[in-house]
Amino acid sequence: MMQQIDVGLTDCLKELHLPTVRECYNEQADLARRESLSYEQYLLELVEREREVRKQNRINRLLRESKLPVEKTLATFDRKRLPRKIDVQINVLLNGSFLDRTENILAFGNPGSGKTHLLCAIGYELVQQGRRILFKSCGLLVQEMLIAKRDLKLQHFLKQLAKYNALIIDDIGYVQQSSAEMEVLFTLLSYRYERGSVMLTSNLPFSQWEKIFKDPMTTAAAIDRLVHHCIILELNLPSYRLEESKKQKRKINIMQT
Ligand code: ADP
Ligand code: MG
Repeated sequence: MMQQIDVGLTDCLKELHLPTVRECYNEQADLARRESLSYEQYLLELVEREREVRKQNRINRLLRESKLPVEKTLATFDRKRLPRKIDVQINVLLNGSFLDRTENILAFGNPGSGKTHLLCAIGYELVQQGRRILFKSCGLLVQEMLIAKRDLKLQHFLKQLAKYNALIIDDIGYVQQSSAEMEVLFTLLSYRYERGSVMLTSNLPFSQWEKIFKDPMTTAAAIDRLVHHCIILELNLPSYRLEESKKQKRKINIMQT
């Protein structure tokens, strides 16, 4: 009898795609009998577990898909280094509502100030909330777009990106770009405008963006699209790496004296 029920249940739960219920129902039934749980409590326990595992699987899938560097999270980010105003801004960004308003986040600052780490950490938290994020270095993104364009698939490529709530473009303007490169970048920013958020980092302030987009008209148009709805984070901080290595040296000096 019991065996028949087991076979029947396993069969049904397989077909209904409820793997966690299938794994847990036996053990939970023992527990329910021991603790005299009601039928409803038992059922609730099982479906809650199924939901929890599904949610976690989905987040893991989104995290893999995001290509976010795994170690750059808020847990490893020292927020005390940030000016108070930016720290407060971050709390607001973490609720993710900027994505619903397709606002952009632009992080400026000297190399090593933590721009990439900070935007990745925000991205990571948003993935935990079920948002779809994609991280790409600007250089790689541009190369992929050039290939797509060559294969007459640029529109398709841009549409693929549209499924992400936010596209993190890391280090825009870091390398000098050819006109073909800046053209696809401009196409992307235009396409993305009011369709989805862009989160970007740059060592170059807007005043130097002509180096990226070459002519003043395109530069102004690109900046215009980005800043229409945006939050700017100015991270003019000393380089984290430099400070850490100084601290390290100081430690060594102390040890030697
Ligand atoms: P940027 O993108 O501004 O050049 P990064 O985000 O790459 O700077 O930071 C440089 C290095 O310093 C990285 O290894 C990063 O993890 C680390 N770092 C920067 N700021 C912080 C911080 N506030 N807390 C912890 N690590 C940081
Ligand atoms: Mg960076």
